[in-house]
Amino acid sequence: MAFGKLRSSSAAVAELAPRGGGICAPDPIETGLMLDLLPVPAVSVSLEGGKFHFLALNRAFRIAGLGTNAAESPLVRLLGSQLRRFIESDETHHDIAWQFGEEVDCRYFRVSFARRESQIGSGRCLVTLVDQTSELRTEHSLRREMATDSLTGLPNRAGFSDQLENLSADNAEGFAVLVVNLDRFSRVNACMGGLAGDELLISVARRLKGALRGRDILARMGGDEFGVLLTLDDGPGDALHVAKRIQAALATPFRLSDFEIRVDCSIGIALGADNHGEPEDLIRHAQFAVKRAKTSGRTELYHLRAFDIAREQFSVETELRRAIENGDMTLSYQPIWDLGSGRIVSFEALARWTNEEGVALSPNDFIPVAEESGLIVPLGRWAMEQAALTLATWDRRVGGDCGVKVAVNLSAIQLQRDRIPEMVQAALEQAGIAGSRLTLELTESAIVSDPDRISRTMMALKDLGATLAMDDFGTGYSNLAYLQKLPIDLLKIDRSFISGMLADRDKIAIVRAVLSLAQALGMQTTAEGIETNELAQTLAALGCTYGQGYLYAQPLVETDAYALLAARNS
Ligand code: C2E
Ligand code: MG
Ligand code: MG
Repeated sequence: MAFGKLRSSSAAVAELAPRGGGICAPDPIETGLMLDLLPVPAVSVSLEGGKFHFLALNRAFRIAGLGTNAAESPLVRLLGSQLRRFIESDETHHDIAWQFGEEVDCRYFRVSFARRESQIGSGRCLVTLVDQTSELRTEHSLRREMATDSLTGLPNRAGFSDQLENLSADNAEGFAVLVVNLDRFSRVNACMGGLAGDELLISVARRLKGALRGRDILARMGGDEFGVLLTLDDGPGDALHVAKRIQAALATPFRLSDFEIRVDCSIGIALGADNHGEPEDLIRHAQFAVKRAKTSGRTELYHLRAFDIAREQFSVETELRRAIENGDMTLSYQPIWDLGSGRIVSFEALARWTNEEGVALSPNDFIPVAEESGLIVPLGRWAMEQAALTLATWDRRVGGDCGVKVAVNLSAIQLQRDRIPEMVQAALEQAGIAGSRLTLELTESAIVSDPDRISRTMMALKDLGATLAMDDFGTGYSNLAYLQKLPIDLLKIDRSFISGMLADRDKIAIVRAVLSLAQALGMQTTAEGIETNELAQTLAALGCTYGQGYLYAQPLVETDAYALLAARNS
């Protein structure tokens, strides 16, 4: 007999099957002689004339409530078509998972259809069922337990992830994740004890639940953080609505023993439609938004790039800090020349940084990071000291005043955070150069942020003898009142007005206006970004004092800058 081929998930069935041997009739299994030895429900089935017949079945099959004849058996009723397909196929074995019965007394079977190769085409097969109900129930309850927060009975972070996974599988876009974080919860815990904290969390969970619709899913993500999974009927507006309802629900103080406690919350939202990654990412995005909400004080929606930008900035920040500490930054020097005489009058010192991967980063990328992280203070100090030392070196080389100034940029944040006059004075003293050899370039934003303080700083810098330039003029707030009040010597007209100026009447009009304004206020002017001869000539004709741009030179390393100076001004 070829029983060796009869594979089954039931070890008992496998053990019963004798090995080897030819075909002999009558088949002991079909006659039922051996079926009763099987500890699992088993039935021998035949399909004749389109109808099923039970040739033999065992006690376990009857006890399992699977019927005694094919006409009334739920097995045939529910699995008939699969059984038929198997019998008509040329397979020897087929396994299916079968759920039988209603919710409460539902049972789970692993059903095996099997026959010997020689039986293919005979219309017969053996069906065995292994009851897996208790294993599956244990597994389900374990899984449920693992996915439930024991304090509130809500899904926990893992449970929330599962639900999110399910929802995003059938509703790709129309949903949102809200993360609700309680403000100052740790204080309640610290002042009133963990029990009171737990009680508060349970009450909060109850109120949150009350603020949601029946199909929204509330979870406790851990600590004082709750998650809400929303289906959106009316687009993203729905999520903001729910956020408002949540806030309203928490507005009334909570009663905890003898105290009334107000609980505020911060809410971050991430929209399914914005997410191109894993559903799980959405939770992180909402958590990221909630962090922003904590500082901004309002509900925040996650924006696609915000996270990447923050991560990128963080690593840039770490590297930048190292670069400043290790002295890996350098300054380039770009000449500024007198448009009338063609002589170089000064060099603007521009920070240069090549990161650890060998990528040369633009100051436009790393200065904002330095400003945000506070690194602008050491960076600015370093630039000031370095520029002053370079000028002193050039002076020494020519054996006296080398004839040019050096211009150093000061950022608005740096002006707020550092004691600029003291810092500049120290750098000048250290290098041994006079304040009159220095130009400081400030931007309009610096002035707008704190006019009084900046005014005092500028006066102090003037007392040191420095020249003060307004950088990128025209791109900022262009408040003319301060131009009059502050001791500004020079306006630097932003490159955006200069480049392409000749082909743009509006730009020419603006540049003309700036030049006459400067003249009226007794200020000098520098045009930034001069790349052609024609531009240089036009600007000179319009009365612009100085020029800076690739036409003359790109920012140069210190030795090249000195060589250019020596060649031009000698
Ligand atoms: P900025 O002060 O307006 O400097 C002029 C910028 O224009 C420089 O860019 C320079 O390379 C560029 N430039 C000059 N001529 C031309 C030209 O003909 N064509 C074009 N396309 N560009 C020209 P850079 O070096 O990338 O610096 C960008 C900005 O970064 C500077 O603008 C300045 O605001 C800031 N920065 C640079 N170094 C420092 C620093 O040490 N401290 C502070 N606070 N800011 C700095
Ligand atoms: Mg500048
Ligand atoms: Mg500029």
